[in-house]
Amino acid sequence: MAVNFRRAIARTAQELDQLAGFWIGRLRPGPSEAVEQAGWRADRPDAYCSRCGSSVGPGEATITGCGHCRGQTVGTDRIVRLGAYEAPLRDWVKGVKYERWGPMGAYLGHRLGEALSASEEIDRERAVVIPIPMPWTRRVFRGIDHTAVIARAVAKVLDAPLAKVLARRPGLPQTQLPRADRRRNAHRGMGQRFRPGGWPLEDLDLILIDDVRTTGSTLRAAARRLRPLRPRMILGAVIAVADEPARRGRAE
Ligand SMILES: [Zn+2]
Repeated sequence: MAVNFRRAIARTAQELDQLAGFWIGRLRPGPSEAVEQAGWRADRPDAYCSRCGSSVGPGEATITGCGHCRGQTVGTDRIVRLGAYEAPLRDWVKGVKYERWGPMGAYLGHRLGEALSASEEIDRERAVVIPIPMPWTRRVFRGIDHTAVIARAVAKVLDAPLAKVLARRPGLPQTQLPRADRRRNAHRGMGQRFRPGGWPLEDLDLILIDDVRTTGSTLRAAARRLRPLRPRMILGAVIAVADEPARRGRAE
């Protein structure tokens, strides 16, 4: 009974995703128009650390990471990002997440797919796109499953299957927790109801999709659940990476 109810809710949420694109599309400029107006460009791969995604200066990051992540467990093997979590990218991500700006989610997903296509790390024949899920309760309240919208666009560009193999229990959103609590929360909430869903992931290149990497705890926890399935590699693909305040200060 509870399962059927949940399924019905999930279906409704999916329909809402589609509706969201329709309604908001009438109130906002088109995504490419907004991007052009802002003069925004996606980061080149050398603008950030390929291990943790933090912004770096020339020569600051190597294959073993940067000053921020070297020697630390990040969970994923590589990170691909579109930019730092700053305006205007930050406002677009918020628009997708909190105001159901579906078309912008699909646009940014498309751009992320292009960035992944350019990466030599991924073998497209083995690529599987996996969205970081949100608890179904939150999805219903927000009316959009933003990571699923982004992941669908990525999968389309890469011509790769979309596999919703992770599930997450309801809990407080990461953004409402103090930074120190986020890691613990992510470990507890992510993947406890993990469903492999009949996908054999062995020897495949898993592309984990999230909107923003903040502390990295969500991606780390998800990767921990997927690693035992023996993929060839696990790559985190995010729209934006929030740099440490200290790092941001230095950059400014
Ligand atoms: Zn790093």
